[in-house]
Formats: sequence, C-alpha cells, structure tokens
Amino acid sequence: MIASNLKKIEKEIPEAVKLIVVSKTRSNAEIMEAYDTGHRSFGENRVPELTEKYDQLPKDIEWHFIGHLQTNKVKYIAPFVSWIHAVDSFKLLKEINKRAANENRVIKCLLQFHIATEAAKHGFSEGIPEFLNQEEFRQLKHVRICGVMGMATFTDNQAQIRNEFIRLKQIFDSLKSGYFAENAEFREISMGMSGDYQLAIEEGSTMVRIGSNIFGPREQ
Ligand SMILES: *Cc1c(COP(=O)(O)O)cnc(C)c1O
Repeated sequence: MIASNLKKIEKEIPEAVKLIVVSKTRSNAEIMEAYDTGHRSFGENRVPELTEKYDQLPKDIEWHFIGHLQTNKVKYIAPFVSWIHAVDSFKLLKEINKRAANENRVIKCLLQFHIATEAAKHGFSEGIPEFLNQEEFRQLKHVRICGVMGMATFTDNQAQIRNEFIRLKQIFDSLKSGYFAENAEFREISMGMSGDYQLAIEEGSTMVRIGSNIFGPREQ
C-alpha cells in the first residue's frame, strides 16, 4: 500500500513541487517501503526519533527536520540533516550556523511563519523578521535561507486555508523582492500536508509534506 500510495501522489503533484514523505512515528520497515520505490526525501519532527532513524537507515536519505526545534538539540542533527523547515528565531538560526560550521557543512533553512489562527503554532508573525537587516545575519556562512514554511489552521474551512496559503505566498514574495532578490536559492514555499496539499499547490507551494496519505492514519 505504501509504495502505491506514494506513486499515486508523485504522479499527481507537478514535477516542480518537491514531495517530503513525513515519516514521523513510522517504523524503519515502513520507511524502507517508500525508500525502495526510489524516494529519498523524508521528514521528521522529533530529534531523538530522527537521530535513531538516521543511524539505522540508508545514508543517502535526505532528512528534513520539519518540527519545532529547540536550540539545545541542534547539535544532535547538525552532522547530517539537510533541511530545517521551521526556523522561528534568530537565536535558533545562529545556533544552526554554529553547529553546521563545526561539521564543515551548510544547512538549508526555511523561515517559519505563523499563518494559522491557532495560538499554539510557532513561527514569525506578519512582517519582516528584524534580524534580516542585521550585519550579524549576513555573516552566517553555514546556513542557507532557501524560503519560507507555514502550516494552515486545522479546519474544514477551505476558504480560510486558501487565504492562509495566499498570505504565506505574499510573505515569500515580499521577502524575495526585499531581501533575497539576488539569491537564486531563495525559492521554496513549504506548505501543504495530507489534507490540504492540493490547495497549497494551487497557491504556489514548492514543497509539500505528506505523511498520512502515504502511510495511513497515525496512531498518536
Ligand atoms: C506531521 C506533519 C506533517 C504531515 O502531516 P500529514 O497530515 O500526516 O500529512 C506535515 N508537516 C508537519 C510540520 C508535520 O508535523
């Protein structure tokens, strides 16, 4: 089932949109079913679970950390993580830079914006994060800001979800023109999960993060 679900979604989404298979809570055997179809990009949201899977699974997997990341845990994933989707403070970005420098690596980062009405979600709120104007930010050589990430409100209201995605696209556009116009790598909009990825793609998503539609419902 996993392989055929994955193939179906891969066929459905445009080629320009990158699929991150969200493997949190899934066993190594389940992940290997997806891996064996040729898929290599996987997303996790807990540090201990990710480090364990990194140790046990093939080393050509491109790991995306998609959850809220605590500063004191960056060091555990810095040796191998390719993407960090949810950078929500300058402090965290500086820590990622420091740990990536120790490993002689560059880690691709997305700035998370709070687009949902729910209070619990992390991320920068409206407007341009202050640190982008600081010289200290320009000195960071071991992180690459590649775009933005956001999560829509958990609701059945399609119009609301669509508006939240439109808002994230607008934030991306204003950051692109104001701060990253010269930076060809600033081009990603990570939005869309199992329930809303078609909407997200219609509104400009370049990365969708999909778990349940591939592996089935999560138990937790
Ligand atoms: C769990 C998770 C997903 C995937 O959710 P599904 O509904 O299972 O597709 C996507 N993004 C983030 C940040 C997640 O934590």
